[in-house]
Amino acid sequence: MTEAVDVIVIGGGMAGIGAAARIAPDAKVVVLEAEEAPGYHATGRSAAIFVANYGNAAIRAANAASFAELADPPDGLAESSLLTPRGEMMIATPEEEELFERHMAAATDTEEITPAEAVAHFPILREENIARACYEARASDIDVDRLLQGYLRLLRGAGGRLVAKAAVQGLAWHGGSWRVTTSQGDFEAPVVVNAAGAWADEVAVLAGLPRIGLTPYRRSVAVLPAPEGQDVSGWPGVVSMSETWWAKPAAGKLIVSPADEDPVDPQDAWPDDMVLAEGLERYAQAVTVPVTRVERSWAGLRTFASDRTPIVGFDPAAEGFFWQAGQGGYGIQTAPALSHLAAALIRGDSGATVLPAATVSALAPGRLRG
Ligand SMILES: Cc1cc2nc3c(=O)[nH]c(=O)nc-3n(C[C@H](O)[C@H](O)[C@H](O)COP(=O)(O)OP(=O)(O)OC[C@H]3O[C@@H](n4cnc5c(N)ncnc54)[C@H](O)[C@@H]3O)c2cc1C
Repeated sequence: MTEAVDVIVIGGGMAGIGAAARIAPDAKVVVLEAEEAPGYHATGRSAAIFVANYGNAAIRAANAASFAELADPPDGLAESSLLTPRGEMMIATPEEEELFERHMAAATDTEEITPAEAVAHFPILREENIARACYEARASDIDVDRLLQGYLRLLRGAGGRLVAKAAVQGLAWHGGSWRVTTSQGDFEAPVVVNAAGAWADEVAVLAGLPRIGLTPYRRSVAVLPAPEGQDVSGWPGVVSMSETWWAKPAAGKLIVSPADEDPVDPQDAWPDDMVLAEGLERYAQAVTVPVTRVERSWAGLRTFASDRTPIVGFDPAAEGFFWQAGQGGYGIQTAPALSHLAAALIRGDSGATVLPAATVSALAPGRLRG
């Protein structure tokens, strides 16, 4: 038995579930997810922060277009804001001042602060190491689980469904439809959305298409106890100007990342001990408190196209094959805009009501098909 629907979404992470939720009011949608539960890979492993000034111009446009929906979720996505104010600081050593200048030239809603003010925000920083600092007050923690559950609710409310433990094993274009083979049965639809995260290029290969050029990069995170006698809950996130480490409070502790970016094959990622140790040493150089204990750690994959811009749109190389991939380190904070854009493009709209036309073009897969 083959189940026929209008749109098949491959991948139950934020990219796939968000897009499916926005497509579902106009089409019969099924999401196929390989794992037992949605959000198991990158989506469940993020730092859960919204930073408006993070990413290139196309990403910043998607950040800006996503903020309102996260802050004040509409139509049943969530009952209250998905954001909690956190604040984000960038700190520069004397060697990083040029980078700092470049960041400030492009940044919005960001103020330069003094090194002493930076230490007032994040009291364990070594003031003598800071040449310049800036603060983005609007940066916020994102409730990732509530966002994902909200999209799932919208999907189901509109008649769509998620099929778990349904790894896609085959994809063939036949008589105007994609036939999709999974361990949970076969499906067919005229449109397939490739939202397979780190595996999106493997899915393209299954469909007989050339790879579009995605690279998964591992990023690790360590959970450290709060420094003795300190209540970290109101501290902002802090990131070194050249992104060689970052730290932020989470659930009364500090999470610290080496900001590693090691290319790996698609996989269930795990931190590399040496990479983690070297990164924690870079963090330790910047603070007055030694790192004595790592309570736990995790890693996830941030998957980028060669130009570090997400890929959203129909592949010019194959009918009905839509990309929702390459979200890199921004797939949670850009999910509202990129999900609406996917739905608009699949409906046949230009997407111009969601994002500026130049951004829609910057995201289009055709740029990577020479
Ligand atoms: C450490 C870390 C920190 C981050 N911090 C932030 C942050 O603060 N803010 C932010 O916005 N973003 C952040 N990100 C990035 C964000 O997590 C990702 O951009 C986003 O989760 C990508 O979502 P996705 O749905 O594309 O991928 P995934 O969540 O990986 O989902 C892809 C899904 O596809 C499924 N799949 C793959 N192949 C198949 C197949 N053949 N059949 C069926 N299913 C398949 C997988 O099982 C997986 O569930 C961070 C990422 C990491 C790793």
